[in-house]
Amino acid sequence: MNLTSLFAWKHLNAVEPSPIAIRAGACTRKGSARRNNEDGNFIDTDGHIFLVADGVGGSSAGEKASRMAVDLLPRLLANIAEDIEMSDEEVFEALRAAFAETNAEIVAEGHDNTRLHKMGTTAVLGLVHVNRLFVASVGDSRAYLIRRNRLQQLTRDHTMAQALVDAGTISAEEASQHKWRNILSKSLGNQDSECLPDVRALDLQDGDRIVLATDGLTDVIDDQSISSIVRETANAQLAADTLIEEAEQNDGPDDATCVVLFVGDVDEPSPTHWWHHAGGRFGPSSH
Ligand code: CA
Repeated sequence: MNLTSLFAWKHLNAVEPSPIAIRAGACTRKGSARRNNEDGNFIDTDGHIFLVADGVGGSSAGEKASRMAVDLLPRLLANIAEDIEMSDEEVFEALRAAFAETNAEIVAEGHDNTRLHKMGTTAVLGLVHVNRLFVASVGDSRAYLIRRNRLQQLTRDHTMAQALVDAGTISAEEASQHKWRNILSKSLGNQDSECLPDVRALDLQDGDRIVLATDGLTDVIDDQSISSIVRETANAQLAADTLIEEAEQNDGPDDATCVVLFVGDVDEPSPTHWWHHAGGRFGPSSH
């Protein structure tokens, strides 16, 4: 074994992650009070980038902004998952840069077209890197982790109501009903800043369930119901469909969108998108 092959052998053995399976489902519906669906969602065909976005701006501007986020963010982050030597901080930096660039693109598009002048969008994105989930968010779309029967919100709402909670002016309970609960304090398309996202990372575990959702869903289904639905359904696509059906039954006026991830091996086959991470590469295993 020469020096080059010795290095390659050590390199492969030092960083090869243990296999993890991820299956994903997505569903969306137009709100009962909406003319068109301004939400967007994305599931990566390689199984490592997941995203929901909720556009604002009236007319077709919100739809345009959320579509730009759904198009741009996955493209800007496409090479991260396979670069397994990246540190957490390097992945965080890549996420911040991708959100800043997407923000700049949406602002520029708005400058060029007065009809789109005030468009913006939320974005909550999950990126799987070496069996860790990185979450980046701007706005009030949320990420939840459901692990061993407990639901944890992974994101903080960027709303004026949440700002009052942070300042100690109102309680979290009051914020959920506050008239400013849907007024965004930050969105992509924000002209005043780089619009850096909140970022965090966690080790994925067998049995974890992840939900990314827009406020059209989280405003009409409480955390307990989200947790029950996701724990009690057989696969990720069925969980996503059931969450959106529940929003529809509650006559949600706003567009509702979710992406659901089931992490780890499961017994029964399902029609969902599904990938198995093995040998350092992602690839479709079955459909
Ligand atoms: Ca919304």
